[in-house]
Amino acid sequence: MNLRKAENHISPKYCGLTLGKVRILMQAIVIFSGGLDSSLAVRFLQEQSIECLLVNFVTQFHDRSNFAVQQATALNAPIEVYRTDNSYLKIIANPHWGYGKAVNPCIDCRIMMCRVAKEMMVKHNADFVATGEVVGQRPNSQMLHQLELIERESQLDGHLLRPLCAKHLPPTDAEKSGLINRDKLGGFSGRGRTSLINLARKLGIKTIPQPSTGCLLCEKSYAPRLRDLFRYEPNPITWDTEVLSNGRQLRLNERLKAVVARNEQQCLRLQDLFNRPNKRPSLMLVPNNFSGTTVMIIGNDLTQPENITIAKQIATALLLRFTRPDKYNLESSTVVIHYGETKSIEPVTITSVGQYEDVS
Ligand code: SF4
Repeated sequence: MNLRKAENHISPKYCGLTLGKVRILMQAIVIFSGGLDSSLAVRFLQEQSIECLLVNFVTQFHDRSNFAVQQATALNAPIEVYRTDNSYLKIIANPHWGYGKAVNPCIDCRIMMCRVAKEMMVKHNADFVATGEVVGQRPNSQMLHQLELIERESQLDGHLLRPLCAKHLPPTDAEKSGLINRDKLGGFSGRGRTSLINLARKLGIKTIPQPSTGCLLCEKSYAPRLRDLFRYEPNPITWDTEVLSNGRQLRLNERLKAVVARNEQQCLRLQDLFNRPNKRPSLMLVPNNFSGTTVMIIGNDLTQPENITIAKQIATALLLRFTRPDKYNLESSTVVIHYGETKSIEPVTITSVGQYEDVS
């Protein structure tokens, strides 16, 4: 850190460290989930009169921003919510540092977060970036060598402070210069939470959430769906990942997949996804005069008219397969077929769906 930069913050409203006759407030960008660790990291910094601007990351697989905003308010700290776009999917599809136990590329993800936080640090003229990481707490991303790697790859050398475990890490520039008192930073390590919880209570943190990544990428049951998407779709979009959270996911062939809603809520969700402007070519069937499920067929080939007939047949066959037989009558039941802006009503007929792989 350059001390001249810190001087930019000199202002009568600040009440930080004293250098000569002026008082200097340091500012930190804190990567903040709202959980115990990042809340404690904020409190550690506030105890040293360091102003914290929090950044919460929302990805296609993880959104706890409402909770993070609540926690930030309780900590009396401003917060920005950063939403990742399709470029994040490229990281997930092909992580440089590999996956954890499921499809969670935590090291690449943390590097991305630190790079964004670094940009914010420059933009806000802040002094360093801080996180709530604890050395040894998570085997996929918080071992000592991984913490060092994340700092190096995000080009935050000397500017990435982990207040909870700082005593296990080399001092940052702010510690070396004496603007942060290293003695008042933490020496936590490992997975235990008891001492962290005790300290949180002591520092006035009232809401102590259960440990949870809340990230779909860590769920083993989600991994086959995402792997299927990456295998058959070279340019996934956010809409694709939203579809993955709904219903049975059936791979029909290299170019087509089907999604069959499991309950009423998923039927409504599929209909909502179908009505989005930025979606992949798709066709949707809903029962017209009987109770049954909703089916969506998805694939880039659906832009060609000759594939629509086949897609309709497959969708009808699946709709009947996953609807109770006593709910429809082959003589009189009809379905509504949605394709693009058009919709038509057609009778149901039994056809073969062919082979498919259930990847849900
Ligand atoms: S758990 Fe999910 S959001 Fe958290 S670092 Fe890993 S991939 Fe990223």
